[in-house]
Amino acid sequence: MSVTLRMKFKVQLPPIFARMGKTGDFVMAGQWFPKLAVYETVGTRGRSDEGWNMHQYHGNSEFYSDFGIYSVRIDVPEAYKVAATGFQTKTPAVSKGRKSYQFYADDVHDFAWSASPHFEFTEASYSSAGVPGVRIKLYLDPLHKKLSDRYMHAAKSTLAKLGEWFGDYPYSTLSVIVPPSNANGAGGMEYPTLVTAASAKDDTPGYDLERTLVHEIAHQYWYGLVASNEFEEAWLDEAFTSYTEDKLMAAIYGVLPNTPVESSYLTDPEPLQQNSWSFGSSDRYADNVYLRGKLVLTAIERQVGDKTMSKIMRTYFQKYRFKHPSSSDFQRVVESVTKKDWSGFFKAYVRQGQVSDFSVDSIKSGKSGDGNFESRVLIRRNGGSPQTVSVIFHFKDGKTVSKEWDGVQNQIELQLRYSSPLVYVAVDPSLSVVLDNLRYNNYLKAEIPAKARTRWTTGLTDLLENLIGTLAW
Ligand SMILES: [Zn+2]
Repeated sequence: MSVTLRMKFKVQLPPIFARMGKTGDFVMAGQWFPKLAVYETVGTRGRSDEGWNMHQYHGNSEFYSDFGIYSVRIDVPEAYKVAATGFQTKTPAVSKGRKSYQFYADDVHDFAWSASPHFEFTEASYSSAGVPGVRIKLYLDPLHKKLSDRYMHAAKSTLAKLGEWFGDYPYSTLSVIVPPSNANGAGGMEYPTLVTAASAKDDTPGYDLERTLVHEIAHQYWYGLVASNEFEEAWLDEAFTSYTEDKLMAAIYGVLPNTPVESSYLTDPEPLQQNSWSFGSSDRYADNVYLRGKLVLTAIERQVGDKTMSKIMRTYFQKYRFKHPSSSDFQRVVESVTKKDWSGFFKAYVRQGQVSDFSVDSIKSGKSGDGNFESRVLIRRNGGSPQTVSVIFHFKDGKTVSKEWDGVQNQIELQLRYSSPLVYVAVDPSLSVVLDNLRYNNYLKAEIPAKARTRWTTGLTDLLENLIGTLAW
């Protein structure tokens, strides 16, 4: 059965504030037409009954829609250049001061376009293993003309890596729009085969220029092709994209993320698997969906190693492109690739908003009868799921002992006995637990408690008395 809907609608473009609108004569048309909700069949994202997945627009949330074919005619004043999803099917027709563009795109789930009479346009053909052949089109705000090579290099290298790591880029175009700086609210956004980069703040911008573009192009895979439901499980897009962005920045530019600093930003962890509008605030949405979600993927990587993680990501992409997967689908891929149960991990970090804060809670030290020093050290895992960590013990004579704790229980008390006093204990000194958001409690200095000190003093007095006793006659 099929139904054909025809509708007329009119959109008033707002001044550009977020994502879409008009500033001067620059137009960014995203989310500009009535979009069909996704009709989910039984089994899609674990559904037991088929039905529409419908949500209204919320400020925090990005989008979810279904694949289709778009044939779009865009009629603009003659001086305007138009960038759009897909490719042009014929040369624009000019008549009476107007120009009519015709675009076509299939197997995409949205259609965006942008127009300006000032665009500096350049294009290049590119192909590599995983990129069968694509025309990369740059539509730059004129002030960004000098940066053209940087945008183009970032676009080519990013597509090459994505194709190599995950699978083919199946489209024939990728359009990059750089909005003028007074329309930067439209920058840094992804649409199928079309992205907006950030405009530069000065003539010699740092790697943030590339980072934004690399991020938006990485979305072509997790937002565009895998097509996650960003209303209900936004991390499947943003966290995967942020994780991929870090990998791309490292591979292309040698820029590495500072994960220990990033995890310290996780002050309000919340579950990843919840509706975008249910997060406490837009900051909490961003901190969890982008950052904590990315660190959850990094945490998997740290536990399984780079090679297995690459296999997980590739398998997930290959299996679920064009399919709208869920968090559980991703969990099943992790489990099938690693042949292990990850339910505890996904429960703690995805379905619940946990972090894995390891701490050295207390050190009790004293001297034993035989002259050695004894210490009892309490180490805790506050939340999170079990994982092995290393613990180091440093003694006054310079000796350092390293031990592994499997972290299965949420606390462990270790007893040590050594000829020199314990000075400090540190858990996870190599900062390998990426979801540990409280680092200050990973280290504790041994202090001699008042009681023990008294006892030791007594012991010393006894010793002296004995010595004196021996010497005296
Ligand atoms: Zn993003």
